[in-house]
Amino acid sequence: MEELYPNIAEEKKEYLDQSFRDSVATISKQGKRNFILPKKPKGKFYNWRTVASLIYLLVFFTLPFIKVNEEPVFLFNVLQRKFIFFGQIFWPQDFFIFAIGFLTFIMFVILFTVVFGRVFCGWACPQTIFMEMIFRKIEFWIDGTAHQQRRLKEMPWNGYKIRKRAIKIAAFYFISFIIANFFLAYIIGMDSVLAMVKEGINPNMGTFISLIIFTTIFFFVYYWFREQVCIVVCPYGRLQGVLLDKKSIVVAYDYVRGEPRGKIKKKDTNEYGDCIDCFDCVRVCPTGIDIRNGTQLECVNCTACIDACNSIMEKVNRPTGLIRYESEENIEHSKKTKINWRISGYSVVLIILLCALSIMLITRADVDARILRTAGQMFQSLPDGRISNLYNIKLINKTRKDLQVSLHLENMIGEITIVGNKLIVPKESYYQTPFFLKIDRQLIQNRKTPIVLGVYQDDKKIETIKTTFLGPGY
Ligand code: SF4
Ligand code: SF4
Repeated sequence: MEELYPNIAEEKKEYLDQSFRDSVATISKQGKRNFILPKKPKGKFYNWRTVASLIYLLVFFTLPFIKVNEEPVFLFNVLQRKFIFFGQIFWPQDFFIFAIGFLTFIMFVILFTVVFGRVFCGWACPQTIFMEMIFRKIEFWIDGTAHQQRRLKEMPWNGYKIRKRAIKIAAFYFISFIIANFFLAYIIGMDSVLAMVKEGINPNMGTFISLIIFTTIFFFVYYWFREQVCIVVCPYGRLQGVLLDKKSIVVAYDYVRGEPRGKIKKKDTNEYGDCIDCFDCVRVCPTGIDIRNGTQLECVNCTACIDACNSIMEKVNRPTGLIRYESEENIEHSKKTKINWRISGYSVVLIILLCALSIMLITRADVDARILRTAGQMFQSLPDGRISNLYNIKLINKTRKDLQVSLHLENMIGEITIVGNKLIVPKESYYQTPFFLKIDRQLIQNRKTPIVLGVYQDDKKIETIKTTFLGPGY
């Protein structure tokens, strides 16, 4: 214990001692890395998190195989600037929908953090799920319990240790390789990944090198860097100090009930609070902190300490929930969570953003059409008494099939002549062509006459475009 958590002996001296803030549990006094080898959690919350993680992992590993209209449901092809969400293709032209969607997501996270603390970190963050639910479980399986892991770490290099380390490195690297492949599938599509697997390494050397780089990064993160991602790198973690307040629900220790802490005695003298100072909550913590010191940046709300403490409370016949999801204010004053101005403010912004996003998604057309008058052209008087204007139409087909569209003049009688006869827009592509609009001279009284053009796919109007028609002006 002492070597793993060197600061704890000091902290035990006085509950309100703030010296724990001067150091990080993962860095020793000599400035070296303190590897946290937490005890395996066991309990209700861990079981729920395991179930939630299984669903999460199932979704993560099956989504790249699911297709809608022969295209993946999700694709983030930054290289080809092709993005698919829930089967809908988004183009760079849809960037504003992306921006609003991203903003909405950030607001969600902020709002959730204000209300529920870092619940995202413990239950939905890929780093926590991969680390705690895949790599950590494999580590327990290969290296044994936390105690056995410590013994293995401290023992000199011998055949046994080399074998254990080799198995662990191979297992971690293999899983990192699988994860990297699936990440690649989210970028270029599972079909392309499978095609590359069939073709072999040589024709796909560039992609293979990127894959190995990503695999090595994943391996480094899960084998060595681990909780440092949450403590040092993750910007969301760094924001906790700004987002959380005393009303935020976090994994918290009930110091009112627990203090003064003290070892359990045969004869209960009511001298101490409910905390029996067993350190089990610290032993299970993957970031090596003591939650009894209060909410800390390092706490990823993994709930392992809740399970550990509940199990101890059951053993000593005291009520569970000494560590639980609770706000600091509730613990201090035994009050219920109330909606404060921050929650209301964020909720309003979130609702507005959600509405804007829904409207944009609902009204997003499969075809984008732009009509511009051809540069340098005014109007032409035709021998049959009509006036003709030349325009240019640019169409973007965001769907996965070729589309034939037609143009209709909506607010007056006129004739549209497409150069090339038909407006056929190839799938996922652009098409532009000039067209003539001919209107009877009697109908054109002004120099500029407003006109409305409808773009139709079959009988369905997909876009309305307003522009002007030039005439002689008398
Ligand atoms: S303090 Fe508890 S909830 Fe926070 S990271 Fe440690 S074990 Fe998880
Ligand atoms: S597990 Fe519970 S009883 Fe044991 S030290 Fe932590 S808070 Fe106290």
